[in-house]
Amino acid sequence: MQPEVRVTRRGAERWTRGHPWIFASDLTRPATEPGVVMVTGPTGRPLGQALFSPRSEIQLRLLETRPNVAIDRDWWRERIRAALTRREGIDATAFRVVHGEGDGLPSLIIDRYDRWVVAQLLSAGLETRRAELLAAIVEELDPAGILLRNDVSVRRHEGLPTTVELVHGTVPTDIEIREGSIRYLAAPWTGQKTGAFLDQRATRDRAGRLMPAGGTGLDCFSYHGSFALHLAQRARSVVALDASGEALARGAVNAALNRLENITWREADAFEELRARERARERFDVVVIDPPAFAKTKSALPQARRGYKEINLRGMRVVAPGGWLLTASCSWHLQWPDFLSVVTDAAADSGRRITMVERLGQPADHPEVLTIPETGYLKAVILRVD
Ligand code: SAH
Repeated sequence: MQPEVRVTRRGAERWTRGHPWIFASDLTRPATEPGVVMVTGPTGRPLGQALFSPRSEIQLRLLETRPNVAIDRDWWRERIRAALTRREGIDATAFRVVHGEGDGLPSLIIDRYDRWVVAQLLSAGLETRRAELLAAIVEELDPAGILLRNDVSVRRHEGLPTTVELVHGTVPTDIEIREGSIRYLAAPWTGQKTGAFLDQRATRDRAGRLMPAGGTGLDCFSYHGSFALHLAQRARSVVALDASGEALARGAVNAALNRLENITWREADAFEELRARERARERFDVVVIDPPAFAKTKSALPQARRGYKEINLRGMRVVAPGGWLLTASCSWHLQWPDFLSVVTDAAADSGRRITMVERLGQPADHPEVLTIPETGYLKAVILRVD
């Protein structure tokens, strides 16, 4: 018998409006233990089955509206298979197989890196289903190994430990990935996120195609060089900037893997470096600004806006006339209108004529569901700078 959890009318309405979360304040009768529960409305009518997290603000995450369907290994398999079909045609050997709420599998991330899988179980309710979920992953994806990158702070809100655990087969420290015509090494054990920034794949490809033959490029927050590699295929020379020398060293290994010898790796603060290069009158045909999330919380937003404006202004100033600036933000708290207004403020101060040529969002393997705003966080625009 599944435990029953009762919710208020407001809670029930969240589900009917297409959002899978119900918060603690809308539970009139909670359960005691984490797990899969039957949820009923204020009159006792069954609404569906959900993951229950007693310690979290988000106490319920809707899994299934049909009350009588068993949430077992076959159920997980079916959802994973459905997610896979939404990803057909991706031209890369690494991609996100399951984007949590965006794929109807709340609090679950599954990334595929060639023959290996890196996953994250991000709620206490989901953690109770670990064994059958892992079995479903093995059966559907047949990986050579599964690594759980559960070293993420959101797990603390769930009362869960933060760990990195090998739970199936073996997973190497480096995995060679092909992304379009580029190769790079993912770092599943230690890299950011689950080993690489898979969410910028389509945007990196777009950046590469902006580069005129024999042009020059600047990749400002380069990490392992992923944008720089795409730019360098057509460019005469590319500068890849990052504050982390360790990240750049991996970038250099990636360049060698692609036999690219036209990238200069420069360890520096992007804000200072851009100012210095502007003063030195250096100009680039394509500039990429893909910073870390400056706004990690809502209260950090005003400060973050200043940071985004400043870095974009400096970026605009080092673009050669008629060149391109590709600028991105992965801060969920800085939403599209805000992002565009920050970029517009920078344009107003730049003294350049700036045209918005394209808006880019998340690729198909990071589905953004309109009724679940939390599934979308990544924004980018391509600007022509005259
Ligand atoms: N563009 C990358 C992801 C960038 S992640 C990709 O597509 O894979 C953000 C990077 O910014 C990290 O590597 C971090 O070391 C770097 N960084 C953070 N603050 C910085 C600063 N002030 N100057 C330069 N690099 C910075």
